[in-house]
Amino acid sequence: MSDPINIDGSQGEGGGQIVRSSLALSMVTGRPVTIDRVRAGRAKPGLKQQHLTALRAAQEICRATVTGDTIGSSSFTFHPGDVVPGNYHFAIGTAGSATLVLQAILPPLLIAQRPSRLILEGGTHNPWAPPFDFLQRSYLSLVNRMGPQVTATLERPGFYPAGGGRFIVEIEPAKRAESLTHSPGAPGDLGLSNFHLLERGEIRSRIGRVLLCNLPDHIADRELEELARLDQWEPDCLFRENIKAHGPGNAIVIEVVGEHVIEVFIGIGEQGTKGEVVAQRAFEEMREYLVANVPIGPHLADQLLLPMALSAWQSDTPDHRREGSFRTVRLTDHSKTHIKVLQAFLGTAIVIEEEAQGDTVIVKIGG
Ligand code: AMP
Repeated sequence: MSDPINIDGSQGEGGGQIVRSSLALSMVTGRPVTIDRVRAGRAKPGLKQQHLTALRAAQEICRATVTGDTIGSSSFTFHPGDVVPGNYHFAIGTAGSATLVLQAILPPLLIAQRPSRLILEGGTHNPWAPPFDFLQRSYLSLVNRMGPQVTATLERPGFYPAGGGRFIVEIEPAKRAESLTHSPGAPGDLGLSNFHLLERGEIRSRIGRVLLCNLPDHIADRELEELARLDQWEPDCLFRENIKAHGPGNAIVIEVVGEHVIEVFIGIGEQGTKGEVVAQRAFEEMREYLVANVPIGPHLADQLLLPMALSAWQSDTPDHRREGSFRTVRLTDHSKTHIKVLQAFLGTAIVIEEEAQGDTVIVKIGG
């Protein structure tokens, strides 16, 4: 039996990421977890429907024993069983972010013995959550460089308040080719390879796309005009996509394709916010990324930490030590909190080196 662990849900950011990553890491390590003061850093603390769906999804894939799994709960326990890869369908039932639910269950399935296929339903383009396009184009393409092969396919977008978005995730786990030597505290080969990303390389293209569902065309017109006013774009790199969804929805997705990495920035349309402002928000995030001249933006940074920490955790003997590194902007509270949670479960060494100009850092994991 692995040691149980207590996690303070109010530490640092005090948000849902502590919950989702703790679930993932509990499944990966087999360590039962108790989380107290769940999401105490948020205006409405406790488990919301999205977190409860993540908890139930995690419970289903590893037949866990759970207490405290109710809406608003400020404390719960999760006692994992063996992870069972396979076909699963999880629906949030609200517009809560389905990409966030995936954060809780993807890590154990990446290193499972067999493939999985997931259908996820809920919001796909939510504020304060990874938009589907970021998941598909940016995050998963980097995860795939570590060994697993994961694809995500959008069937229908989901926006607040109607929700109803739906996507499929197919997971071919990393191949466990060699047998790593390791101490009893490390799991041995999970098939995850070293990952280093210090340079973005040249920018190959920038694409601005306006998604519009069940809303008047002039919204997309104004957003595209504003993007064109803010910057010069290559021909045909600004366009709109009218798509079907269960309710109204609008988002601006800007994709920056670099030589070594793709980053995705989003502006979510909301009632009462002018299209011009939505365009400015997405544009400003992209501009900050381009000015910083790093490969990894702030959101990618906090999310990449987990698969990279798993890679480093595999073996701790000098011959087979795994390591990773990336350059990013100054760490967000999400990243700093995530590092604490990862270290509590895995004990992985994570070192942050500030660069000379002070606004960028190199994150080194393991080694
Ligand atoms: P939490 O606030 O603790 O529920 O965590 C939110 C998660 O969503 C973090 O992993 C963020 O990096 C991620 N996130 C929020 N906004 C974006 C965005 N625009 N693009 C990608 N990921 C995002």
